[in-house]
Amino acid sequence: MSQETFDLVVIGSGPGGYVAAIRAAQLGLRTACVEKDPTLGGTCLNVGCIPSKALLESSERLVAARLHSAEHGIKIGSVELDLPTMLGRKDKIVKQLTGGVAGLLRKHKVHWAKGLGKIVAPDRVEVTGEATEVLQTKRILIATGSVPATIPGVAFDGDRIGHSTHALSYPAVPEHLIVIGAGVIGLELGSVWARLGAKVTVLEYMPTLLPMMDPDVSKVAAKLFAKQGLDIRLGVKVTGATRKGDSVEVAYAGADGQAQTITGDRVLVAVGRKPNTEGLGAEAVGVQLDRRGVIQVDAHYATAVPGIWAIGDVIPGPMLAHKAEEEGIAAVEGMAGLPGHVNYDAIPNIIYTHPEIASVGKTEPELKQAGVPFRKGSFPFLANARAKALGETDGLVKILAHAETDRVLGVHIIGPRAGDLIAEAAVAIEFSASAEDIARSVHAHPTLSEVVKEAALDAGGRVIHI
Ligand code: FAD
Ligand code: NAD
Repeated sequence: MSQETFDLVVIGSGPGGYVAAIRAAQLGLRTACVEKDPTLGGTCLNVGCIPSKALLESSERLVAARLHSAEHGIKIGSVELDLPTMLGRKDKIVKQLTGGVAGLLRKHKVHWAKGLGKIVAPDRVEVTGEATEVLQTKRILIATGSVPATIPGVAFDGDRIGHSTHALSYPAVPEHLIVIGAGVIGLELGSVWARLGAKVTVLEYMPTLLPMMDPDVSKVAAKLFAKQGLDIRLGVKVTGATRKGDSVEVAYAGADGQAQTITGDRVLVAVGRKPNTEGLGAEAVGVQLDRRGVIQVDAHYATAVPGIWAIGDVIPGPMLAHKAEEEGIAAVEGMAGLPGHVNYDAIPNIIYTHPEIASVGKTEPELKQAGVPFRKGSFPFLANARAKALGETDGLVKILAHAETDRVLGVHIIGPRAGDLIAEAAVAIEFSASAEDIARSVHAHPTLSEVVKEAALDAGGRVIHI
């Protein structure tokens, strides 16, 4: 039982919580981090970003070995999937990284309080784990993240009808995987299992694919996913899922309104996530939640209760690890009297399909709706030498710049390594750069980054290589 008074107790050790705890310790705050799960790192490290990217990488290599070796003049012979090894590799990476977080907390002398944290007063957190611990504290930061959501008529059974966590560890490749929701998880994990040999049908409620992305990008994405064999059905309303032995029958109304059923051996429900405030006791002490359970905060991440802050998936905004991290740092710096700040216009968003899709800033429809005058430039990977050498020529970069000031307002990419290329665009937006600034910056040759440069040149009407 800890007798000391902490300066800060962080509840939750996801990317928001553990990064905030480290930053707080750097700033001299005596800090504890409460985590109910046996390992640190939250959704992202344990069952989110990291394991999904490990499987995306492995499954991409399988496809590359099978379909693209011959064109490089490499004869491989038969290529076989060893699923237990692939899953084991993913688990090993997770173990290394979650262990790494434990090491970081130790290094910064952050006390890891093991158990479920409950706020019993604005200055007290009760931790129930193997033992019960009561932490006395000057401040509390809620970073309890989110959990998978579902829809009426579809209940998780922990086996055939599951969420993303289940889809990271299916013991065998499904014959027919039915994915409900063509959002980020549906597309990423749908891609993984399709590459490993499953028939994948994706049922999406919205009439268009990836409506939050720039339409020039989502159009290309729709074509490429169809080519990869993902059967994506749009404008579909799922009404229920019923287990029948080892199969599941999913009932839905199609785009034409007709009732239909489809049967698969696994269902992945990927219709979004909801804030995790179960057992937290936040409401009881006066923290305000909206009707979806999202914690309400001010511009400095303070809740309605003095001394309690909240960040990450549990507050409004995109559910992204890097958003949670930046908010954690800004919140803690604010507590220490520093000017912590997050620029929500410069948060990159990446979908790690093949090719990757990445964006930062405003889309064309958003600018039109806001009445902002803009010009645009775009450039295809097909005309880039490095993309040719890689054999990865699908996709494009699109840059939107203010028509009068030339300031970069949005960058949208679908193509090889889009997730890495978007970093330049995020920095450009953060620094209020113009399209001309990007166009005049020297980009090494031959690199994929030249596609970004050429798109910027195109925005100024002086594209070179097309
Ligand atoms: P979380 O990571 O959810 O962490 C919250 C922690 O709090 C958990 O460890 C939980 O156990 C703990 N906790 C909750 N309540 C209590 C309590 N009362 N007491 C003690 N502990 C508690 N984002 C990206 O940016 N890039 C990606 O590639 C990406 N891929 C994803 C893939 C999948 C399959 C999923 C599901 C998500 C992915 N995300 C990705 C989203 C990302 O994981 C989240 O946005 C991020 O983890 C949110 O961080 P957080 O710190 O707010 O919360
Ligand atoms: P999402 O919000 O990305 O997508 C959910 C999809 O389900 C939407 O397209 C929505 O229209 C659809 N949907 C909702 N109700 C439906 C219904 N009844 N029938 C059919 N479709 C329906 O959510 P997600 O894919 O579950 O991911 C959850 C969160 O995790 C996201 O906010 C995302 O930011 C985060 N995440 C991020 C990454 C990444 O950054 N690469 C990867 C995975 C998850």
